[in-house]
Amino acid sequence: MNSALQGLMQDDFPLTLHHIRRRMRSCSPGAQVTTLTPGGSVERASFGEVSERIDRLARALSRLGVEQGDRVGTFAWNNQRHFELYFAIPCVGAVLHTLNIRLFEEQLTYIVNHAEDKVIFVDDSLVPVLEKIAPSFQSVTRYVVMGDGDMGELPNAVRYEDLLEDAGTGSFDYPEVDERQAAALCYTSGTTGNPKGVLYSHRSISLHSTATLMKDSTGLSSSDRVLAVVPMFHANAWGLPHGAALAGADLILPDRFLGAEPLAKLIAEERPTLMGCVPTIFLDLLRYADGHPDVDLSSLSNAACGGAAVPKQLMKDFEERHGVRIFQAWGMTETSPVATYSRPLEREHDDAYWDDRAKQGRPLPWVELRLIDGEGGEVPWDGGSTGEIQVRGPWVAARYFRDESGDEKFDSGWLRTGDIAAVDQKGFVQITDRAKDVIKSGGEWISSVELENEVMSHPDVIEAAVIAKPDERWAERPLCCVVLREGASTTAEDLLDHLRGRVAKWWLPDEFAFVEEVPKTSVGKFDKKVLRSRLTEGTLEGRVLVS
Ligand code: ADP
Repeated sequence: MNSALQGLMQDDFPLTLHHIRRRMRSCSPGAQVTTLTPGGSVERASFGEVSERIDRLARALSRLGVEQGDRVGTFAWNNQRHFELYFAIPCVGAVLHTLNIRLFEEQLTYIVNHAEDKVIFVDDSLVPVLEKIAPSFQSVTRYVVMGDGDMGELPNAVRYEDLLEDAGTGSFDYPEVDERQAAALCYTSGTTGNPKGVLYSHRSISLHSTATLMKDSTGLSSSDRVLAVVPMFHANAWGLPHGAALAGADLILPDRFLGAEPLAKLIAEERPTLMGCVPTIFLDLLRYADGHPDVDLSSLSNAACGGAAVPKQLMKDFEERHGVRIFQAWGMTETSPVATYSRPLEREHDDAYWDDRAKQGRPLPWVELRLIDGEGGEVPWDGGSTGEIQVRGPWVAARYFRDESGDEKFDSGWLRTGDIAAVDQKGFVQITDRAKDVIKSGGEWISSVELENEVMSHPDVIEAAVIAKPDERWAERPLCCVVLREGASTTAEDLLDHLRGRVAKWWLPDEFAFVEEVPKTSVGKFDKKVLRSRLTEGTLEGRVLVS
């Protein structure tokens, strides 16, 4: 018989989104959701008002026949209605399935049919995109259009506001949900084959949201105004909507207006303290801010950046020139997504401090991490040796939704991330590459991320993406695609001079390609797949051999 003594705490209290939903109403009814609208004005609603709309929406979902476990798709930008769906759908026991609006049509068809979405909520601005593929969806019985715009050819469509109106007021009798029940579903591109579904539970979202409130993490608190630029259709916008709701922080949503100009204006007017977005958007914003010194972005004392390596120079320039502090996070859809965060000790801003800021940071509490080499052995945390990152923890995926082909991603309770990194003795992770992007030259590895960082520290370089170029002697050699500032006449030789002394000699690129733009993926990351295929097809422009 087990003689262990059981604790006497309320361990059965469920970690579900009901708590966050109730808390918005009871603890922070005055917090605000602000959405940018066409024309540059904003719409505002308090958490109290939003809570009332969530109750109506929950009732409307039941009337639409949405039942426990049903998948309900959203095809929407970052706005208040999407935020309402973030809570109403899981709180009726159904699953919020955020569709990535930027995917190819065939991928969307695959994803909707694979998930068997029953209803899809779509922004009116996105109806033209969705209606083209709607005939290929096999399980969708209703479409709900958000906004007053055209409903197009969508079959069985109804308007969101009509649904809410008809649902009436008053409290709603929400069903109990188990904390292990699925709450949200998000497909990731996956390394091979079809997109893979990551199925978040109420428990994983609750714990991950709590983690966004930790000071060594996103550090979100009730005194923040949070600008979520990272799309709500991508890994739950890094947990920012849930975190803001839990903390009682104001949430600012840019809808579809993600250009540098509308964003800069929104920041200057709404004064967010915290913002989350990928490096490419920050790069655009920096260029804009440099050209418009009257635009004040300095309210952003705690911006979060991740999704791709964050160039050190970008963080420094923003901090020194615009008073914006950017901190780096690392993670992936499978890790909810935040797994590490870089907040080095605030000492003097010396080189060591900045080196740590440029790393991906320490694992968050409850996230465990190890490095595994090619033979399956564990790599020491010595700051130099590299291996593939494996992670585990309560907000890390255990397997994919209805997809055994992704099983190779899981290794006895650990998630194999496909990212190569070193970890130093303080536990700071430094990603050197994605396994598929690393350049294998003469049996040694060259980190494309580090090379890009160094090239991007050149004042004339806006973007740099390094890919492997096949080489008879060395197997692979680095080729660096560069976007220069307008009017700059920097040559390949100038860039080499800049790199000498910053990276090992054998890391120096053999070739540069001066391109107009680095192609981006559906979530705004450099798309090296496209660059590699242009190289193979001979269509990569502006190539200059240097050795
Ligand atoms: P995908 O880009 O494959 O669609 P995700 O959006 O889930 O999927 O991206 C996760 C990947 O993004 C990570 O595995 C990692 O390669 C990269 N990534 C995320 N954050 C960082 C970071 N701070 N530095 C470097 N790479 C990052």
